[in-house]
Amino acid sequence: MDLQLKDKVVLVTGGAKGIGAAITRTCAQEGAVAVAVDRDVLACQQLELSAQGLQISFIAMDLSPATNCKAIVQQVIATFDHIDALVNNAGINDKVGLEHGDPQEFLSSLERNLLHYYNMAHYALPHLKRTRGSIVNISSKTALTGQGGTSGYVASKGAILGLTREWAAELLPYGIRVNAVVPAEVMTPLYQQWLDGFPDPQEKLKSVVAKIPLDRRMTTPDEIAAMVVFLLSTKAGHITGQHLFVDGGYVHLDRALT
Ligand code: NAP
Repeated sequence: MDLQLKDKVVLVTGGAKGIGAAITRTCAQEGAVAVAVDRDVLACQQLELSAQGLQISFIAMDLSPATNCKAIVQQVIATFDHIDALVNNAGINDKVGLEHGDPQEFLSSLERNLLHYYNMAHYALPHLKRTRGSIVNISSKTALTGQGGTSGYVASKGAILGLTREWAAELLPYGIRVNAVVPAEVMTPLYQQWLDGFPDPQEKLKSVVAKIPLDRRMTTPDEIAAMVVFLLSTKAGHITGQHLFVDGGYVHLDRALT
């Protein structure tokens, strides 16, 4: 299937590690010019080194504050002239809870997980209008299931689902499609870090995997990336405002099955 992504400029936030790196690589494998934005400079350099003929470049920058998002978009335009797609992916489950947290930490968590989604879309919009581009927002199952002890992250992930629908509606006149992908359990550096917070990470992983209905296994970053790349492609030309769950049935199938 030709996804017609050749030479399309795709901007991927948090694009140097984990799910974002898989999205960056998969876009490039489909012939796109993939631009990863990530604050982890080493991961950016490694990604570029492993590019092997693929069109991958990176911008090593933190997505906060908003002025950085503006600068990122300006830099992409200065280098590549246009933007065809934005994948808002960067985020961190930072455990700012209701009981163990405070209003300032909550606000900071929203900054880490939500505000740059709006800021990147805002600054990229004039360019997406020119190309009839597309946006994919990465949310999380926690937006629907909760997790406990992580109000800032979950509020952000819920808001991202709301904004996906809102932007899909607002951007209809420009033919810009906006969709969200909702992962549940994907092995990435962030996930490993979360597991390492438990006294027995291996035991915790076993108990998580046992609750994933399809194949009792984690979703791979490549499986998330495949959905993202499809949504960005012309093959998904009549899909907008959708929340796509790539989770082995974790969120919706009957608990009695596991
Ligand atoms: P990851 O392994 O931590 O990779 C994310 C990358 O984004 C890291 O390099 C990270 O840098 C970078 N990043 C984060 N915030 C940034 C910022 N403000 N500015 C620039 N770079 C930033 O994470 P992941 O597991 O792939 O998660 C990617 C997305 O999927 C997140 O939105 C997450 O909420 C969502 N998700 C993941 C899972 C899962 O099971 N893994 C499940 C549901 C949803 P640092 O390492 O310096 O933070």
